[in-house]
This record gives sequence, C-alpha cells and structure tokens, in this order.
Amino acid sequence: MIPVFKKECCRGCENCAVIKACPIDAAEIKDDQLKINEKACLNCGLCIGKCPFDAITDGINGYKIMIGGRWGKQGKALKQIYTNKEDVLNHIEKIIYFYKEYGLPGERFATTIDRLGFDTVELILNKAGSTNIDNE
Ligand code: SF4
Ligand code: SF4
Repeated sequence: MIPVFKKECCRGCENCAVIKACPIDAAEIKDDQLKINEKACLNCGLCIGKCPFDAITDGINGYKIMIGGRWGKQGKALKQIYTNKEDVLNHIEKIIYFYKEYGLPGERFATTIDRLGFDTVELILNKAGSTNIDNE
C-alpha cells in the first residue's frame, strides 16, 4: 500500500499522528511539512487514515515480489511496487530469464542470488527494463 500524501492538507503538527503510526521512522517533519522517506517506507499502510487533517486518507494497492526464499528462509522483496497483475507477471518472466542466464547448472535460485548479491540481481533485473513504479 503506497500512502498518498496530500501536501496541501498538512499542517506540520508537532505531534504528527503519521509519524507516531509509522513503525520504522520513515516519516519526519521537515520545513513544517510531513516528509515520507520513500526509500525507507515499507508500504505497510499503517499511517493511512491516521492524520486528523486528512493528509493521508488513501493509498495505492500494489504487489511486491519476493525472491530468494528457500524452505524456511524468507526471500527479500524487490524495491518496485507493481500496481497491476500484468506487470507482476512480466517481471516474474524477466526473473525466470535471469535465472536461466545467470544460474549455474543445478544451482537453486536462492543460491544464485546469494552468490551474485541481492543488490546486483536487482540492478540487472531493473536494467532489463521496466514500466513499473520505482519506489526508490
Ligand atoms: S500529516 Fe497530519 S498529523 Fe502529520 S503533520 Fe501533517 S497534518 Fe499533522
Ligand atoms: S506506509 Fe508504513 S512504513 Fe510507510 S510511512 Fe506509512 S507507516 Fe511508515
């Protein structure tokens, strides 16, 4: 959930309800306005509806793709947020091609990611072109 922030409604309150609601300190008051650090934001949506002045009443639903999971180990989410299913499927196809090109014979995908590094993998996937929202 990408929070939609309406700047014009923000009053730069001393005790901002959005900052209070954010579990990871991704929001702060700067120049008398709320600022959400998009790089840090987890898109959890917990801040939506918290502002008493309606600065964040809504959010955009999206999908995150997690890669590199293995048995009990959870994968890690790519930064992009995809707002429609078609984009998700296209990106999954790109990931499969990536694995075909960079994976060693018999290597699990999670191991390929560990070997190359998550950031490198994400960089290569992004270079393959995307029409999605980059949440960086
Ligand atoms: S987002 Fe709402 S609660 Fe936070 S500073 Fe702006 S007006 Fe105040
Ligand atoms: S969506 Fe979640 S992480 Fe992002 S600013 Fe709101 S509460 Fe914080």
